[in-house]
Amino acid sequence: MDSGISITAEKLVEVTAKYASKIAVKEEEYVRAVGFSSREMGRRVVTKVSFWLVTQQSTLLYCKLCNKGPFTKRGMFLHLTRMHHSEIKLLLEEEIKREIKALL
Ligand SMILES: [Zn+2]
Repeated sequence: MDSGISITAEKLVEVTAKYASKIAVKEEEYVRAVGFSSREMGRRVVTKVSFWLVTQQSTLLYCKLCNKGPFTKRGMFLHLTRMHHSEIKLLLEEEIKREIKALL
């Protein structure tokens, strides 16, 4: 495992949990996580991985990884970061690898 990918994935876990929980993520949060030049890549990766994490039924949020819910936005964020940190990191690593391959 490339340690750079692992570090980048780790930095994006919280932003991903936030985005997946429908909490607004600011541009500067992507910049802080992956740097200015990689912010668009960060946004793409976060958007893709979030799709696998949360499903929404009307205003209620459910966890796609363990089917628990419903959660509020804040509850969903806490559930993802506390219960699924390593799974989210792995999913991010896979997407980042795909992004790097697409660039080569
Ligand atoms: Zn869950």
